[in-house]
Amino acid sequence: MALKTELLAPAGNLERLKWAVVYGADAVYFGITDFSLRSFAGNFTLDDARLGLDYLHQNGRKGYVTLNIYPFSNEYDELMRTAAELDEMGADAFIVSDLGVMRALRQLNLKTPIHVSTQANTTSWQAVLAYRDLGAKRVNLARELSMEQIKEIQRNLEGEQVETEVFIHGSVCFSYSGRCAISDYLTGRMANRGECTQPCRWNYTLMEEKRPGQHFPVFEDERGLYLFNSRDLALFPFVPDLVNCGVASLKIEGRMKNVHYLAAVLSVYRAVLDGKAMPEEIAYKMLGRVSNRGYTFGFMKGRITPDDYETSTHKYQSTSVMVASTTEQMHGEQRVCRVKNTIQAGEQLELLTPNGVSSYTLPNPLVSLEGESIDHANNQDVILLNNDLPPYAVLRRVYS
Ligand code: SF4
Repeated sequence: MALKTELLAPAGNLERLKWAVVYGADAVYFGITDFSLRSFAGNFTLDDARLGLDYLHQNGRKGYVTLNIYPFSNEYDELMRTAAELDEMGADAFIVSDLGVMRALRQLNLKTPIHVSTQANTTSWQAVLAYRDLGAKRVNLARELSMEQIKEIQRNLEGEQVETEVFIHGSVCFSYSGRCAISDYLTGRMANRGECTQPCRWNYTLMEEKRPGQHFPVFEDERGLYLFNSRDLALFPFVPDLVNCGVASLKIEGRMKNVHYLAAVLSVYRAVLDGKAMPEEIAYKMLGRVSNRGYTFGFMKGRITPDDYETSTHKYQSTSVMVASTTEQMHGEQRVCRVKNTIQAGEQLELLTPNGVSSYTLPNPLVSLEGESIDHANNQDVILLNNDLPPYAVLRRVYS
């Protein structure tokens, strides 16, 4: 049976927004330059936002704009001017953390609903109702909740005019959802302004104060110790419970992530939400194809344990690398394809499309955009492939 809960995906730019739509997102969220918690991600300009919202609406999807910084007093006027423009463009929600921003938005009397960001750390139904009373249509629940706690919140919200949203996939913080000063302290880049350099994932040593420069390794095994390096959430087994208890939206983290991540992760969650059979080992295999730090259920299973941290390395892992992707463009009868990593003519690859995964053998020779026969192509080259390949397909080299 198909389940009717929204699947909400991130987008760092217009191209990724389109990939999210093609791979089944019901709604997409993105930041605006200067006013989101991802200062260093590819945020949208206001022109991009208009194009993105138009594209989403033409395809029957929704677009939410993150305005979830904690602004200083002198930043409100510009933030409100931006919000008014986005409201006029038809934004489907503003994602907000700060009470002052909520109050200022309400005073503007805009039609765009307010969604409360995970940065607000909402851990109770009482807090959800408080935000509802302040004008929020939806509240994203904190990642620090268990399934039982979410069910209890949902039971107490029955009949109330407020929606909830839960993060189901992606990176998590060692600290309480980004409320952390390590990055500011060590690098001058503030997590609460979206500038986190992720120092919680670095390797640390011990130094005695009278022996400067003498670093004593602290390690769990020969590879080191990465005490605070949280694994990534992958909560697909909880989707039926989340849907059945009435959560309105399931959110995927990762506005910094590439199109391969979007395609792979959305494919899994779209299938699960549509009630298609997706054995756990297949889901993990699909999710393992894109960079991750190892997967965990985090707080969802009750409490976090050492297993929720990847203490042996801070490096990403992945069982494949995207080597090319197809575009919407045709060149005569052939599909234009962008190369991301060196490929060899005749190479055996894996193909990911919105219809699933299959194997794919590159033609031999390859054909360049100029029509030349070539035996390999490199990053940023453009090649032509068969017209039976759909647009927005990922070609990847699989390692295991
Ligand atoms: S340093 Fe780590 S815990 Fe702190 S905000 Fe950044 S990612 Fe989160």
